[in-house]
Amino acid sequence: MTEPALLPDVRLRPAATPPPRDPRPGVSGLGGADVARLVAELGEPPFRGHQVADAVWRSGAAAWDDVTTLARPLRAALAERLRFDTIVGTTSRPADGGTTEKALHRLSDGRLVESVLMRYPGRADRRERNTLCLSSQAGCAVGCPFCATGELGFERDLEVAEIVDQARHARRRLAGDGRHLTNVVFMGMGEPLLNLDAVIAAAAALTDPERFGLGARHVTLSTSGVVPGIERLARLRPQWTLAISLHAARDPLRDLLVPLNRRWPVADVVAAAGAYARATGRRVSYEYVMIDGINDTPADADAVARLLGGSGAHVNCIPMNPVAHTPWQASPPGRVAAFAERLGAAGIGVTVRRNRGQEVGAACGQLAAEQAGEPPAPSVARRRERLVVESAAALQAARSGEAPPPDVRRARRGPGSR
Ligand code: SAH
Ligand code: SF4
Repeated sequence: MTEPALLPDVRLRPAATPPPRDPRPGVSGLGGADVARLVAELGEPPFRGHQVADAVWRSGAAAWDDVTTLARPLRAALAERLRFDTIVGTTSRPADGGTTEKALHRLSDGRLVESVLMRYPGRADRRERNTLCLSSQAGCAVGCPFCATGELGFERDLEVAEIVDQARHARRRLAGDGRHLTNVVFMGMGEPLLNLDAVIAAAAALTDPERFGLGARHVTLSTSGVVPGIERLARLRPQWTLAISLHAARDPLRDLLVPLNRRWPVADVVAAAGAYARATGRRVSYEYVMIDGINDTPADADAVARLLGGSGAHVNCIPMNPVAHTPWQASPPGRVAAFAERLGAAGIGVTVRRNRGQEVGAACGQLAAEQAGEPPAPSVARRRERLVVESAAALQAARSGEAPPPDVRRARRGPGSR
């Protein structure tokens, strides 16, 4: 009925021979009408549909067997057709003195995905917030070089219920402490706009008052810049918040940091985001992961200011969480502050964000990458070397006329560089 206690010792290793995917849909991926139809097919009166919805969305039940409001034969009939929970196992690790909790979830086919629950205590001027960062895909095809999920590669899209069940899991965890989930951000593993049908259905379930019941403005979709996906969202005009992972305002550097930029260049991404803001009346926020010596110079800040000036957008500066396969580090705090100040002076709204849960590897995909096993040292070394060389070339192109930072000078002298 209740969630298992924290299980820091239980390692959810991927199975050697992955089990086949469970063909039964997850009940949280269905709308009320679908549940009503199924209940009718089973020869039950309509109020049973409401009891099922109560069990799925409002009770602490974790399995059909916990739903004691339904007779045992009906529970068995439902279990034959639908999974109550698409997450088959979870291990959690606390961090930040218990205010952050990173969960690694195993799905029916052995795939591992992560979610991170962050608790922000209330203050005199603000109510308590509990935010879940959840995953939309297992792995990711975009391949941003500073991201642990990108390094894993693409495994598969998550089903609607596999996304929603991460939030149901967090809700049950919080209920144990008398708390409520208030916000959901699609900033875990995967590129939400490359699994957009499922993500739209999941966000709809999460913000439907009859189902999960979050406020629409409390759901944030984050994208690395899938322009047709942003345009589709703009046509839908939801009240969800849109976040764009920017990380560089100039194409040569962004081509390296967010490889999707080669397909949809940054100017097109910003134009599509502007159209979303106009269609929905919602301010778009931009994420800027700050990497020491790579994208954190005054000229980088000026390029961001030129790109976003007058758009009403807000920039979140986030020091990079170090990941094993990159040669890069987070920008030092002084440089992050100077970058933010320069944006602020140019009239751009800006916040410096603290990295939560760094000690448990809370940058997306880090825990799953760890579980997948460390790649062999020589391949990590080769990858790091290649990134140093590629970033040197990208910086040279992006910074014509600027003095290169010291690590680029090192890379030029280093092996394999020109
Ligand atoms: N694929 C989507 C959403 C998931 S990534 C996107 O890229 O927007 C969510 C956020 O985590 C992105 O802004 C991403 O750039 C950031 N991120 C990835 N790796 C990180 C790292 N090592 N340190 C800090 N932030 C990271
Ligand atoms: Fe994918 Fe986002 Fe990671 Fe880039 S940052 S690889 S888009 S999950």
